[in-house]
Amino acid sequence: MLLKQLKEILRTTSGHLNKLKDIGVTTVRDLLLYFPRTYTDRSDLTKIVDLSTEEVNTVKGILTHLSTIRTRNGKFITKGMLTDDTGTVEVVWFNQPHLKRILYNEAEVVLMGKAKYAYGRLSLLSPSYELLKNEMVHSERIVPVYHETEGITSKWIREKIKPLIDDWAGGFEEYLPDEIIKNHNLLSYSDSVKNIHFPESEETLKKAVERLSFDELFLLQLKALQKKWYWQKISSKDEKKIPQNIDLIKEFLSKLPFDLTNAQKKTLAEILRDLENPYPMHRLVQGDVGSGKTVVAAAAILNTVKAGFQCALMAPTEILAKQHYQTLAKFLLPYGINIQFISGSTTQKNKDEIISQMKKGTVDLVIGTHALIQEKINFKKLGLAVIDEQHRFGVKQRTILKSFGSPHLLSLSATPIPRTLAMTIYGDQDLSVIDELPKGRQEIITRVVPENKRIDAYRWIEDQVRKGRQVFVICPLIDESDVLGVKAVTKEYDYLSEHIFPQFKIGLLHGKLKPADKEQIMKDFKDNKINVLVSTSVVEVGIDVPNATIMLIEGAERFGLSQLHQFRGRVGRGEHQSYCFLFPTSESEDSKKRLSAMVSHSSGFKLAEIDLNLRGPGEIYGIKQSGIPDLKMASLTDSITIEKARIEAQKIIEEDPELLKYPELQEKLKQETDVFVQD
Ligand code: ADP
Ligand code: MG
Repeated sequence: MLLKQLKEILRTTSGHLNKLKDIGVTTVRDLLLYFPRTYTDRSDLTKIVDLSTEEVNTVKGILTHLSTIRTRNGKFITKGMLTDDTGTVEVVWFNQPHLKRILYNEAEVVLMGKAKYAYGRLSLLSPSYELLKNEMVHSERIVPVYHETEGITSKWIREKIKPLIDDWAGGFEEYLPDEIIKNHNLLSYSDSVKNIHFPESEETLKKAVERLSFDELFLLQLKALQKKWYWQKISSKDEKKIPQNIDLIKEFLSKLPFDLTNAQKKTLAEILRDLENPYPMHRLVQGDVGSGKTVVAAAAILNTVKAGFQCALMAPTEILAKQHYQTLAKFLLPYGINIQFISGSTTQKNKDEIISQMKKGTVDLVIGTHALIQEKINFKKLGLAVIDEQHRFGVKQRTILKSFGSPHLLSLSATPIPRTLAMTIYGDQDLSVIDELPKGRQEIITRVVPENKRIDAYRWIEDQVRKGRQVFVICPLIDESDVLGVKAVTKEYDYLSEHIFPQFKIGLLHGKLKPADKEQIMKDFKDNKINVLVSTSVVEVGIDVPNATIMLIEGAERFGLSQLHQFRGRVGRGEHQSYCFLFPTSESEDSKKRLSAMVSHSSGFKLAEIDLNLRGPGEIYGIKQSGIPDLKMASLTDSITIEKARIEAQKIIEEDPELLKYPELQEKLKQETDVFVQD
C-alpha cells in the first residue's frame, strides 16, 4: 500500500511532483521516509506584551483591520492588527498579495516572526502564519524542518506529509526481531516514522531518533556481516589453508634486533590464525606510522612462502614500493626467498621475465606498485596479497582480490580511524590494531609557530642543519588551478634558496616530477646530499629518513589532523630528538583547535577521533572514495549505538546468516541496498 504513487494521492501540480521525483520521492513510502533535517520548537507561545525584537515570536490571536494596498512603485503591503488577551500589535506583510485570499478579519491565527519598532510602535514583520485548526501543523508544536529544494518549501512538505502520516504511517510493518526491540527498549517502526515528522513531545522525538539511528547502523552492519559470511562460504576451498609453522616464526622473531610489541604479537597471531582458514582472510591492520606493520607482514609472508605459496605486496607509490622491497629483502633473503620488484618504470624485458616467473611459480614474493595489477598477471599459486595503504589505490578491494584469484588479503593502513567508525565502514573485514609504538620511541616536540616567530624558527633550524640534521618543508595547495601544488612548492623553494638558507642544499619534490627524478631526489635526501627538502604532500606516506629531524608545515590548518600526523611521522625515526613546526595562515577558532590537538596528542587514533568529532567523517575521509555511508539519522561518531547495533547484528548472523527466520528483516535489507555506498 505504501508503494502507492504520490501522483494518485497528492492534490498538487505536476511541477511539484517532478520536483519530488528529482529528490527521489515518488511513492507515499518515499515521502514518509523523507525525514526532517531539524526541528523548531514552536510549542511555546509568546504573549503580545512580551514580544521580543531579538527572537522569532509565536503569537496566537485574532486578526482584524486587514487591508492590502498597492504602493506607487507597484509593491503590495498587507496590514492588519493582531489581538490577544494582553494587547494588540500591528502586523505587516510585504509583497504577498495572495494573503488577501487566505486571511480574513476575525480569523484566529498563529503568527511567527520577528517584531520591530517602526514609527515609534512595534510591528510584527512578515510573519509566517497558520489559521487555527484543531490540530496545528506549523505551530504550537515541535515543527519539522525539511531540506528545501527549489520550488519545494519546508512548509509545503509539512502540509502534504501531515495527512499522509495520519492515514498511512501505520502501514510501516515492524521488521526488527521482538527481542532487539525489547532489549533496547525501542519505539516501534511505525511510531518512529510518525514521531520523526510530528513528535508528540521532546521525549518521543528522542525515542524516534534513537530507533531510526539504531536501524541505520544495525542494517549497515548486518549487511556487511552477511556479505562477509556469504563471501567466505562461496570462496571456501581446502587448498587455501596455510598452516602455521610455529618453529619458523619463532626463529624469524628471535633473529630480529628487537622484540615485537604486544600489539604486534597479537596482530601476527590473528593473521596466522586467519591463514589457516579455508576461506580467504580479509583483514585490515591499522597502526600508526612507525608502529611496525612491515615486520608483521614479513613474518606472515615468510610463513606463507615456506608453506609452498607465492605472495604479492602492493604499495601506492614507487618510492614506497622500493622501500618495502629493500626492507623485506633484508628480512627474508636469509631464508632463501626469491623476491622481485615490478613497477611502471621496470623495463618491458624485465617485466616479461618476472611475469613468466610468477606463472611458473619460481618467484616467491613480488613487490610493486599498481603495475602489479595492471599487467596481465597470473600467479601459479598465490597465497597471500598484502596491500599497503590500500585506500590510496582508489580501487575496490574486491577488484584487486579478483584479479589475484581471491588469495588471503592483508591490508595495512597508517591512517588510523576510530574503532567504531572502522567497524561501520569496514564491517565486512576483520580488524587488527597496532596501538602501541615500539619501546624507546621519542616523542616528537610539536609547536605552533606564529608569524612573528618565523625568523627565529628559521634561525633555530639553520643551527640544527649545521649540526648535520635534515629538514622537510611541506606546502599546501594554494590555488585550485595548481592541482599538484607545483606552483606553491616552487615558490617556497625559490624563497628558501635565495633568502633564508642560501648556504644549504635545498631539494624540490612534487607530483609532476618524473618517477626517476623523484627517486633521485629522495635518494639524495636519504644520503644527506640535500639539507632541506621542500615538498607537496607526496612525502606523506612511509618515507624513511632517520637523519631528518625537523618537519615544518606551511599553511598547516589546511591539512586534516590525520594528514598532519602522517607528515609528523616522517621525522623521529632516528636517534636524534625531532621536531614538528606548524605554521598556520589562519587564526580561526577551528584551526586553532585542530593545531593545538596536534601539540597535545601523539596518538594517531586519538587525533583521528578528535578530527572526526570536529569535522565529521564525510569531510575527512571523503564520502565517495572511502565508502562512508550517507546516513540520514545516525551519527558515525555515536559509538554507543554503533556498538549496540554491532552486537545485535553479529548475534543474528551467527544464528541465522540467511535471515530465514526473519523474512521482514531480509526484505528491508534488500530495500535499503542503495543506501550503502560501499560495493
Ligand atoms: P610502519 O608501521 O609505519 O610501516 P615500519 O614497519 O616501517 O612501520 O617500522 C618502523 C621502524 O620500526 C622500522 O625500522 C622497523 O624495523 C622498526 N620496528 C618495528 N617493530 C619494532 C619493534 N617492536 N621494536 C623496535 N623497532 C621496531
Ligand atoms: Mg609502512
